[in-house]
Parts: sequence; C-alpha cells; structure tokens
Amino acid sequence: MVDNKQLWEQALSQIELSTSKANFGTWFKNTYIHKNEEGIIYLSAPNTFVKDWLRNKYHKFILKALRDISPEVRNLEYIIIRKDDKTTTTEDSSQKNLTTTTDLGLNDLYINKDSNLNPKYTFDNFVVGPFNEIAYAAAQAVTKNPGMNYNPLYIYGVTGLGKTHLLQAVGNYIKKQNPNKRVFYTTSETFTVDCVNSILNNKINLFKEKYRKYDLIIIDDIQFFSNKEKTQEELFHLFNHFYENNKQIIFSSDQPPKYIEHLEDRLRSRFEGGMIVDVSKPDYESRLAILKTKSRVLEKQIPDEILEYIASIVCDSIRELEGTLKSVIVQTQAKKRDITLTEIKNILKNNIKPKKAVSFKDVVKIISEYYTIEEKSLYEKTRRKEVVKPRQIIMYIMREDFNSSYPYIGQKLGGRDHTTVIHAYEKIKRDIQKDTVLNQEIEQIRSQLYNS
Ligand code: ADP
Ligand code: MG
Repeated sequence: MVDNKQLWEQALSQIELSTSKANFGTWFKNTYIHKNEEGIIYLSAPNTFVKDWLRNKYHKFILKALRDISPEVRNLEYIIIRKDDKTTTTEDSSQKNLTTTTDLGLNDLYINKDSNLNPKYTFDNFVVGPFNEIAYAAAQAVTKNPGMNYNPLYIYGVTGLGKTHLLQAVGNYIKKQNPNKRVFYTTSETFTVDCVNSILNNKINLFKEKYRKYDLIIIDDIQFFSNKEKTQEELFHLFNHFYENNKQIIFSSDQPPKYIEHLEDRLRSRFEGGMIVDVSKPDYESRLAILKTKSRVLEKQIPDEILEYIASIVCDSIRELEGTLKSVIVQTQAKKRDITLTEIKNILKNNIKPKKAVSFKDVVKIISEYYTIEEKSLYEKTRRKEVVKPRQIIMYIMREDFNSSYPYIGQKLGGRDHTTVIHAYEKIKRDIQKDTVLNQEIEQIRSQLYNS
C-alpha cells in the first residue's frame, strides 16, 4: 500500500481536477493525512472552519478519490492538530525566526481588532502600472468621496495581483483621514460563518445591527458566497441599507459578477450597478518596480541585475514575485554574503515557468521530432523501447515544468493510468541525477520548447 504522503498527493491531484483553483487553494491547502488506522484515514485540517467545510461539502468526493487509489480505505475522519503552545519559554527564539525568515519585517501581528485592517497595506507602498491603474484610480476616487460615486466598488482578478492590498489601502486611508469612521474589513467566508452562526443562535438581529453601524464595509473574495443562499439574502439587505444611506461598500472577487455561479440575480444586479474594475498581470517594468519597492521596504539591498532577473522570470503573480524575493533574501542571509546572479539562477531554476505559452501538443511534437519517432506512437499502447523513453520524458516535463496533475497527463497521453505517469515521472527524475546524457537531452528539449 502507498504511504500516507503519496496517497494524499495522488488524491489531491485528482481532487484538483474537479475543483476550481480558488476552492482547491482555500480548502485543501495545509491538509495532510495524519494517520491511517486500518483503513480509517485521519485527515488533518488547519482549522475548524476548513474541517467543517471539508466534512460537509467534500466528504464523499475525498473518500472516492482516496478509494480510487487505495481500495483499502474504509472511512474518513477529520482532525485538527494544534501546534505546540508558543507562549512557553521558547518564545524569544521563535520570535527571532519569524523576523528573519517568513516575515522579514512585514508581519501580520498588528491587524487592528476593530477594523480587521492590516496596516501594512497602504497606497504608499502600492505600485501602480498599466496593469492596475484603473483599479487604483477607482480606489482613490472612493477615498475622496466614499459612498457617493462608485457604490459598490467591485475589483476582480486572479489571485496574487493585489486586490486585498488595494481594498485594505482604501480602508486604512479613510481611517487615517477620519479616525471616527467605522471601517470594517472581512472576507466572504468569515461573513458567512458569522451569518450562519447568528441564524443558528437566533441572533440574526444582532448580526444586522452589528454590520449596519459601520460606515465602510469591505468584503474580500465574494466568489465564496456562491450557493450560500441565506447569507446572500442578508448581504442583499445590508447592501441596500448601505446604498440608501450613502455608505460605501467594496467587494473583491476572482471574477466579474456575471461569472459567479449560484449568485442571486438581485445581488448580481446590485454588483453590476456599481463600478466594476479588474486588475491584470503586471508587465515587466511594473514587476521590477514592485521588487524595488519591496526590497526598500524590507531594507535589503539586492543588486539590480538580480531584481531584473527575478522580474523576467516570475510573471504571473505579485505574491509569487514577493515570495521569490524573500527566498533570495533568506538565502543571502544564510550565506552571510551577497549572492551572485549565477547562484540565484541555480536556486530559482526549478521555479522557472516557461515564458511562452506551450501546449501539450507542442511538447509531444517537439519530443517526437527530437527522437525522430512518429507522434502517434506516443499515444498508443506500444512498449517499444524507442517509444517508451520519449513518452516518459513527456510525462516528466508536463509534471515538472507545467505542474499538470498526474491524471491529466495520463488522460492526455492516450488514457493512461495516473500511477503509470507517477512511475514515469519518478523514474526520469531519478535517472537524470546519474545519466548526464539524458540530462543534456532534456535540457535541449526544453530549450527547443521555450526558446523557439
Ligand atoms: P490578491 O488579493 O489579489 O490575491 P494580494 O493583495 O494579497 O493579492 O497581493 C499579494 C501580495 O502582493 C501582497 O503581499 C501585496 O502586498 C503585494 N502586492 C500586490 N499588488 C501590489 C502592488 N501593486 N504594489 C506592491 N505590492 C503589491
Ligand atoms: Mg486577496
């Protein structure tokens, strides 16, 4: 039987195929199999909210994914494993760790308890470029005249592009200009939990009162309101109250209102009645400007050529840009000297995603040409040696460079089982460690794929 780690990884790769990116990230992040007791799987969730959600919404689905891989699985339990209480005497050293590694000064420890705002998100450290200038201008307009012009303001875009930052910057700015304003930031998940609990405890009037007393409400990631009928109803009434009283409300989502599934029409039309703006992916200059701003904020001097290199390879998300910069800083600190560009390239080698849009078909085509075999033989069942190796290399590259899930790769390559793909991937990964010829071949294939 596969071990717990493998079992969960394989299950996740199947689950990933049938869930949206946002849902997958929210509910399956930081989950793992804690133990397997005679076929009863204990799945560890990071908190109660996720645990309940997994149990209520995904139970059958997860169980099926597990059983498909390991028929011995009988049932599934959910647990939360709390980390050791940090308030013991080790506090000092753990605090130090926090500042040198993960947080690097931009910590989340100062979230305001009344407003839920994190003071690190300001307009001052928000870089504006062609990719986000409309959203920025709309956010600025709201701070000048809250509740009057753009109500609601609705900002959408894929994850990691600065929506939360911008939303919170509005809140922080308004609060700073006028400390008496009651500003409140929340996410749709927290709002939903609050609403549902209020209904269960017969306290819905308190809930209504609580939210109505604010002057500005910011609700982040409203795509998760999908299917939450009761909460949508409360939100609708809350919105009307705000609108009629010229009080501002701001939303973010990963999509424009018309694409959010299972959203009541009247709510959708309220969203559409306001100002809808998107943020897109940053261009190279903006990426570089962001890296420069971040390194200044972190008070770390990083040579320009390194920042330029990072800006040229990390293209899709500002969060990832920031993460890469932080990892470079951590490596520099560990080495206690400046790190060279060559070293950075080596460290980041595995993170580099292809710059060009390359399709599955392109990979198959380039590899069949490289090994001069017929393309169609790669999809067939043949076990001829000259076909097996290129096929395994396709599987390896699809996984390693494109992060495709095992089942997806198997299905694309003539309906092969995902375990076959896992074996192939692991075999090639092992082989290139010792086989320099194979290693060179794969590098040549990559350069044909990405540089042509
Ligand atoms: P989203 O909410 O769209 O997923 P976030 O607002 O959480 O994205 O942004 C991810 C990270 O990138 C945050 O640390 C944020 O401060 C940073 N960031 C995003 N956009 C910008 C920007 N324009 N300038 C500076 N930092 C940014
Ligand atoms: Mg966000």
